[in-house]
Amino acid sequence: MDMIRVVSPPHCRKGPARCSECRKAARVKKICHIHVYTTTSENFRPIIEMEIRGIPGFYEYEIIEVFESPNDAIEYAKRNDISNIDLSMGR
Ligand SMILES: [Zn+2]
Repeated sequence: MDMIRVVSPPHCRKGPARCSECRKAARVKKICHIHVYTTTSENFRPIIEMEIRGIPGFYEYEIIEVFESPNDAIEYAKRNDISNIDLSMGR
C-alpha cells in the first residue's frame, strides 16, 4: 500500500537504543511516500503503527521518496495516484 505519511526515517538497523545516529534520526520527522507491507519479512524495515482495513497494528514499511514541503508531497501524490495522504505529525 502506498501512502504519504510524516515519519522519522531510521538511520540504521541498530535502532535508537543502540545507535546515537538513530536517536538523532528519530527526532527528525519528514514527509515521505511510504510503501506499507501487510505481511512481515526477514528484511530490515522500519515499523509504523496504523490501521489497515480496520486492523490496527504495527506494519513494516519502506521509504520510497522524501519531500521537503507538504506541497511537493501533494503534487507528487497527484501525479502518482496516491490518495492515502496524512500530513499530520502524529504522536
Ligand atoms: Zn543508526
